[in-house]
Amino acid sequence: MKKILVTGGAGYIGSHICVALKESGYEPIILDNLSNSSTSVIEALEGLCGSPIIFIEADIRNKLALEKTFSKHHIDGVIHCAGLKAVSESVSDPLKYYDNNVNGSLCLLSAMAIAGVKTIVFSSSATVYGIASEIPISEDTSRNAINPYGKTKQHIEDMLFDLIHSDPNWKIACLRYFNPVGAHESGLIGENPSGVPNNLMPYILSVAAGERPYVNVWGSDYETIDGTGVRDYIHVCDLAEGHI
Ligand code: NAD
Repeated sequence: MKKILVTGGAGYIGSHICVALKESGYEPIILDNLSNSSTSVIEALEGLCGSPIIFIEADIRNKLALEKTFSKHHIDGVIHCAGLKAVSESVSDPLKYYDNNVNGSLCLLSAMAIAGVKTIVFSSSATVYGIASEIPISEDTSRNAINPYGKTKQHIEDMLFDLIHSDPNWKIACLRYFNPVGAHESGLIGENPSGVPNNLMPYILSVAAGERPYVNVWGSDYETIDGTGVRDYIHVCDLAEGHI
């Protein structure tokens, strides 16, 4: 069975990717520092997949842990989901985001290069487009991130572009996710962030569950029926399948 290292595999998207990997005959190996997830996700995944999942509790900036992971397991490729993703926090604490996301990716890519593992799918984001210069957005639409979170994704993409040009043995895909929503049909895994949700859908659900009093609807003069914004969503299981 081919082994795929899923960084951030205990998180929302990563956990759904692990299920899709298992279903497609791959063995996911999760590396996560649990900064926005918990070990209950690993237990749920094991229940869902009916077999143990290798879980390494570590930070992607921990070079020794990465070195050990690559030397212990014969890893065929990496799906890199580990990252911080709250736009507002990235504005108030940009260095935290550059360190976790950009420096973390640099550490991961360096460890991969040393281990000779040169296949990676990177969780990028539609935020790299900023205020898009054209609608619909295509892959060739220019990138112009307008907040530190989006800029970290843009910098990581640039690192990946430079790697491909330096060595054609690298095989790299950057997936610029829009808004993933929903959960696996089992209901055993889903979006369960720590603290105040940064994504709209879990926030709305926490209001529906009575955990928070209301949700702010921002914007009133968009060219839509009621003047509020309209967004496109993708089901998280479709997104997970896209990685396979
Ligand atoms: P998430 O917070 O649920 O999952 C991210 C996981 O990464 C968490 O389990 C967290 O503990 C882990 N992590 C964070 N920093 C780490 C580090 N330094 N070392 C090890 N583990 C670390 O978020 P998600 O929604 O599943 O997003 C996954 C990826 O997709 C992120 O990179 C995010 O930027 C990107 N993305 C998400 C969305 C979205 O709307 N959810 C949209 C576009 C892109």
